[in-house]
Amino acid sequence: MMDGDDLQKIQHTLYYLSFNDSLEKDLTDILQHHLDFDIVDLSHTIGPTTIRLPFYPPYNFTVIKKYFDENLNIWIEENWFGMAEHTNTHVDAPAHMFRGRPFMNEVPLEKMVGPGVIIDVTEKVAVNFGYGVMVDDLLNWEAQFGKIPDCAVVIMNSGWYKKYPDPELVFGSENWTNMQTHRFPSWTIDAVEWLLSNRHVLAVGVDSPSVDLRGLGALPVHKRLFRDSIIALEGVANLDAIPPCKSTIFIPPLKLYKGSGAPARIFATVLKMKHDGHNQVKNAPSDVNPKFHNTRIEAEFYEHK
Ligand SMILES: [Zn+2]
Repeated sequence: MMDGDDLQKIQHTLYYLSFNDSLEKDLTDILQHHLDFDIVDLSHTIGPTTIRLPFYPPYNFTVIKKYFDENLNIWIEENWFGMAEHTNTHVDAPAHMFRGRPFMNEVPLEKMVGPGVIIDVTEKVAVNFGYGVMVDDLLNWEAQFGKIPDCAVVIMNSGWYKKYPDPELVFGSENWTNMQTHRFPSWTIDAVEWLLSNRHVLAVGVDSPSVDLRGLGALPVHKRLFRDSIIALEGVANLDAIPPCKSTIFIPPLKLYKGSGAPARIFATVLKMKHDGHNQVKNAPSDVNPKFHNTRIEAEFYEHK
């Protein structure tokens, strides 16, 4: 289905083609001078308020150097940081829950970039916090935007990313350190089975903490994705800033040796007509809020060790 923007692009294209002899020159001209792209940050900031499961050690950021060096005449900052693989915006490697499948350093880059397919379930989640994306949601997307493209990166947009970094809101529980009480939107196994059986996708993701509806239990979606060596994306942010289709999503995680997952600076590019000659960068809202730095939980973790 074409919208006004598409028609405008086609009109511009035809206009420029009509004035030039060489098709190749024209296409190069259009790409260089008339098409542009927005860059959209789809990641939460890593910091002291980073969301993590209750049994993980706390985020650690230790200053190694932070001073003015009189001899070198320069300001110097260097830090050490430590965090669990599966915190905040991150990738699950297939090895996470399937023996013999690739670790993070073994997933090739070509499996980490593809056309974005954003499944908007915000209205359903508004009336049911525990909503799971269903086959019908995928069929509705295709009825509006066409067949899910090959190598797609399919991500649920439930609006849940706006709840970060408050752990009570993110895990849907006032008692969030008890994983039995977690409640948040995610995928149903039926929808993921349909996607993997009928379409060719590279990654399946969520803007909530897990691609399975509960943090505990059989985790059928994790298992099904990893069986086919497909990566999972969790804690993706800022999805309202990209369209349901026609974006390209890049998933660059740390190339962590034997990693079962890794934090990633996930971002998207969205093609547009050039207006002012500058790429626009749409940053994710800042989510480092000291209010949610939960030292009590960190103290409990060390008591249990
Ligand atoms: Zn994970």
